[in-house]
Amino acid sequence: MGDVCVRVAVRIRPLLAKEVLQQHEVCVRVVPNSAQVVLGSDRLFSFDHAFGPTASQDEVYQSGVLPLVESLLDGYNATVFCYGQTGSGKTYTLGGVDQEEGGIIERVAQDMFLLLERRKSSDGADATVRVSYMELYREELRDLLELQTVQKELHIREDERGNTVVVGVREIVITSAEELLSVLEMGNALRHTGVTGMNEHSSRSHAVLTLQVNICCHNNKNPSLKSIRTSKLCLVDLAGSERAGKTGNAGSRLKESAHINTGLLALGNVIRALSDQSRNRHGNRCSNAHIPYRDAKITRLLRDSLGGNTHTLMVACVSPSHLVVTETLNVLQFATKARCIRNCPGAAFAQTEATSLPNNWNPTDTRLEELEYEVKTLRELLKEKEKDIEIEREKTDSRGEEGGTITRSSQIRVSEPDQKMNQKTAWQYCLLAQEASALLEDISGPSPSCFFKQRLRDWQDRLTAVSHSHLKNDKQYSEECRDQAQSLMLGKLREELHKCQDDLRVKELMLQDKDAEVQRKHKEVEKLLEEKRSQLLDLAAEKGRSQIQAEQLVNQQILIDRLRSALMTFHGTISGATVEASTSGYFYKRPHSVPLIRNSCVHRTSRKIHSSPPTYSLERVMAAFRMRGHLLLAEIEEKEEVCCLCTNQQAASKETSQEEENGSMRETKFRRSLNRTWTSRQGKLPLKEESATPGQTAYGSVALERSPQPTGTIKPPPNQSLMKKGVRTSITERRIHELTVNMRLKEQLIKDLDRTDKETRAVDGLGYDSNDGGQVNVLAPLSMQSQQVRAEAYRSLQHMRLQRAQLRRQLKETGDSMEKNGEQSENHLEKSDRM
Ligand code: ADP
Ligand code: MG
Repeated sequence: MGDVCVRVAVRIRPLLAKEVLQQHEVCVRVVPNSAQVVLGSDRLFSFDHAFGPTASQDEVYQSGVLPLVESLLDGYNATVFCYGQTGSGKTYTLGGVDQEEGGIIERVAQDMFLLLERRKSSDGADATVRVSYMELYREELRDLLELQTVQKELHIREDERGNTVVVGVREIVITSAEELLSVLEMGNALRHTGVTGMNEHSSRSHAVLTLQVNICCHNNKNPSLKSIRTSKLCLVDLAGSERAGKTGNAGSRLKESAHINTGLLALGNVIRALSDQSRNRHGNRCSNAHIPYRDAKITRLLRDSLGGNTHTLMVACVSPSHLVVTETLNVLQFATKARCIRNCPGAAFAQTEATSLPNNWNPTDTRLEELEYEVKTLRELLKEKEKDIEIEREKTDSRGEEGGTITRSSQIRVSEPDQKMNQKTAWQYCLLAQEASALLEDISGPSPSCFFKQRLRDWQDRLTAVSHSHLKNDKQYSEECRDQAQSLMLGKLREELHKCQDDLRVKELMLQDKDAEVQRKHKEVEKLLEEKRSQLLDLAAEKGRSQIQAEQLVNQQILIDRLRSALMTFHGTISGATVEASTSGYFYKRPHSVPLIRNSCVHRTSRKIHSSPPTYSLERVMAAFRMRGHLLLAEIEEKEEVCCLCTNQQAASKETSQEEENGSMRETKFRRSLNRTWTSRQGKLPLKEESATPGQTAYGSVALERSPQPTGTIKPPPNQSLMKKGVRTSITERRIHELTVNMRLKEQLIKDLDRTDKETRAVDGLGYDSNDGGQVNVLAPLSMQSQQVRAEAYRSLQHMRLQRAQLRRQLKETGDSMEKNGEQSENHLEKSDRM
């Protein structure tokens, strides 16, 4: 048979219940109907088989392992090994303990015995199945089927055909699947397992179950010829790679982990080397390249399976959890590499002549074969030992030169007798081998003679004795080696101790530095805290100041409001008086308060100018007639109103809302007067113009000039006009007085406004502009308003001054005319007296 590649099956186990609870996500999936696996969303890996979480044990067995069992019975060696991270399902797949569904081992056992039965019935082939079960724990091989001598040492060797064998392991012959399972159970009981953070039944060792099958077939044509096929199936449950961080291992578990990982690392190196080699030689076997099998015992055990003469199936087990995606990736990459390894399986046939052998297969024959094999193995062992001794000697020589603790002379003392001992053992073995060959020659018939049996027994005894002495020597040697190793270890430990002490000193120094730095930082922090405290105090003081300023501001605001209202009242008084004056033409009416400020809510009507009726119309004459009648009445009324002028004025200045009412009352009164004396009241028509400009109406000379001067021919009698003028004079005087008072008030107001403005500016200058924008916004319009009010007040004051001057002039003119009239009336009286 030519080269065949190692077959690789990937098995993704389902998420475990606790993983589901912890909300792990699936990060690896099988591409449906293919042997491909996708990691994440885009990393695709191809294998020979791929099994998802739903795949059953039987599926895995049928597609991957059954063909190997069949080839095993055809004489081919086969290996199934499970590889993967800890907790990924290796033991489950092979068939661990307390499993509901049987794993590969159970199925192999059943099928193997079934097939053997079938072959026996068809070919008459006799088969012997031997089982051995061992574990590799902390790089020590241990027999799991030797209950008493579990501590005995096992050695890995190569037989004459280049097959790897383990010397000293117990092999149990089994005849049924049940026997195999009970043996397996026994072995599993001895196997090292433990609880880790990732698996409750974590295998702490690599376990190798070997089924050796010997099938003896008879040739149908020539019954004297018998062929024996020997093959073996290794089922290997590797311990999983572990990360201390994830498993939480410590102490002995950590040491176990270290050994496991070292073994797996060596396995990885072997697989890498084999896969590279396979790729480089393009299918041609190249035996020269170095494959580091000897780096670890597990690689030595799997030597036949990887790059050897075995049909190998690797089951790469992975967990689907996203938390172990890196490990899964490593396993998949590793498995991909393993697919490149080429093996060269060949069936192990041995044909013997039936004449020289008894027809019935005799176990003694097999035993002899075994003895021969043992002798050979012992010889090889001897050679290896010699080689080892040689190497060890070289090493110790070089150590002695370096000035190590063990001196060269002592080495020589130790090695010389050892060499002699080895030579003696070799000689003994040589003798035994010669005797064994003589014994073989003496086998004459199917049933050996008693003498022959005796000789064989003697030979066996001597072999045991030699083996014992050899083992004793070995033990001695190993003890010496152990001593050496211990002294070496001691030296190393001392060195490490020195190194650690140095490190400790350096770290202490660093610690001191850090302490000093911490203290420095501490002081800095304290300083900063102090600064912060003082800043907080400053802040509190500043807050107090700002509070005071805010209070001042509020006070000023109140003051401004008060002043504004006072100003409004004042304007109302002035304008009321002016309107009254302009409407009546006489200054004996109580002034009404109409605020002069711009934003007054009082409705301003446009000024209406009424012209006088035609001089010679009938209505005019009638009106003049009626006027005279009513004039007296009006004068009486007006006198009454003048009397209560002061009272009304106060009332008017109190409430602006009442002004409206007063206005309407005045209007009503006006209408009443108009009904009574139309002509005398015609000048009152513009009364509605409450907001007329002072120059045009209220205080202007125009209004005074427009005072009713009836154009009719009817003239009032001199006494009457004299009386009228007297009343007007007194009203003018009162008006002048009022104006003077108002002017004084206005001046006072202007002064107050100036002072407020100054204070506002002072407040402004205290830093509100930068710290509190909101207050600046309040202050600025207030200041503007106060300035506007001040300007109004000033304008109004000027106007009042003008008005007063005019009134005074008018008063003077009225006084002059009265004097003239007085003279005229006197003349008239004199004339009338004379007449
Ligand atoms: P390993 O040997 O790789 O460390 P185990 O075989 O001990 O891991 O498996 C760990 C856990 O996962 C066990 O509880 C096992 O029952 C469970 N498990 C593994 N593979 C499967 C599977 N295919 N189906 C169901 N449970 C599984
Ligand atoms: Mg396991």
